[in-house]
Amino acid sequence: MSDVNHCLSKTLVSKYGTDTLFVVEDLTGISFAEKNLSRGGSANNDLRSWAFYQLEQFLSYKARMNRSEVLKVSARYTSQRCPKCGSINKSNRHHDVHEYRCQCGYRSNDDRVGAMNIQLLGTMWTSGEERPHFEKVTGLG
Ligand SMILES: [Zn+2]
Repeated sequence: MSDVNHCLSKTLVSKYGTDTLFVVEDLTGISFAEKNLSRGGSANNDLRSWAFYQLEQFLSYKARMNRSEVLKVSARYTSQRCPKCGSINKSNRHHDVHEYRCQCGYRSNDDRVGAMNIQLLGTMWTSGEERPHFEKVTGLG
């Protein structure tokens, strides 16, 4: 896994060049089991969590050497928010078929939706928001 992570981080840094902002989910304090309920056992999740942490470490180090940066953003709702209408709905994500389906008609691969939301958080950060995150608006009384 370390070899894979070295290779992956090196490829990312060289592909995107200098002055790149890499945006990753901050998984500190989040149980991977909580985030990925339907996938594998807890040993699997621990391994995945460790591997992701290591990738982020390698990427941060290599990015810095290449005048780039890694931004960690809140992972909250990134897999639940519709990139088209902005509504947040946990049941829109269908783990089993890897699909995100919103009431507004938007449909896409669930991981792609997560990536789009993480990208938006990065854009919010470059626009000056110190701690970009999504908030679920609940009933107005
Ligand atoms: Zn929608």
